[in-house]
Amino acid sequence: MESVSIPYAVVALLGLAFGSFLNVCIFRLPRRESVITPRSHCPHCGHVIRWYDNIPVVSYVLLRAKCRDCGGRISPLYPLVEVLTAAVLVAGFARKGLTPDFVKVAVLGMALVVLIFTDLTERRIPHTVTLFATAVGFLLSFFIPVDNTILEWFFRRLDVFLHGPASWFLGAVSGALFGGGFFYAVGEVFYRLRGKEGLGFGDVMLMLMIGAYLGIPLTLLTIFLGSLMGTLVAGTLYLASPRFRNYEWPYGAFLGVAAIYSSLGGNALLDAYLRWWGLA
Ligand SMILES: [Zn+2]
Repeated sequence: MESVSIPYAVVALLGLAFGSFLNVCIFRLPRRESVITPRSHCPHCGHVIRWYDNIPVVSYVLLRAKCRDCGGRISPLYPLVEVLTAAVLVAGFARKGLTPDFVKVAVLGMALVVLIFTDLTERRIPHTVTLFATAVGFLLSFFIPVDNTILEWFFRRLDVFLHGPASWFLGAVSGALFGGGFFYAVGEVFYRLRGKEGLGFGDVMLMLMIGAYLGIPLTLLTIFLGSLMGTLVAGTLYLASPRFRNYEWPYGAFLGVAAIYSSLGGNALLDAYLRWWGLA
């Protein structure tokens, strides 16, 4: 093995291990259960899962997707979440290297993996996750830069020069208020026009959390890409099958995927876009 691939292998293995814990979060948090106790058990027969049957991906393959005790089916979502978590961490490592920025991308990415799958499987975006991750995001903003170009520009007009941790923290706060506020406003308008809930408060909290990590520009990009992706997928399936006519779309899952992309490649995309218009 090439020596350069060893760090990648370590990050991938860490991702699989973290992904295993995220599975517990995805399954238990929408049910308001503790993620610490009790130990993982089979949802069919209740038997505690032995440590050697709980190895990410490997156990799923060796057990042929069946519980050792009752033969009940094990969901393919478990290995999928583990592989995706590893992929998010490896992509973050490839993009950021072993830097503080990698820590931020990894924490946000893992919170998003949980929320994407609780939204997909239960149509729920638990406040426990979004509130906790938002608090962590605010804390990290004192050490790891958050884009604050918009407010910095505004304050420069007033001869106030923002820089360093104070500016990063303001970047996180303004990003959170922008993301959460935008969705709260859209939800209100929708409610006034249609008389029913279009966006849940979970989506508002999700965007609040994303904004705290990404700042205003990348949060705006997330909203744009998430809406575009949601419209394309929902539109295609809507036309393809009558089953999807009254389908409740997991909008948060689309936003989550868009936020992961934005945290990794969003700045490069925004720079290319600004250059295209001759603005940078
Ligand atoms: Zn079982």
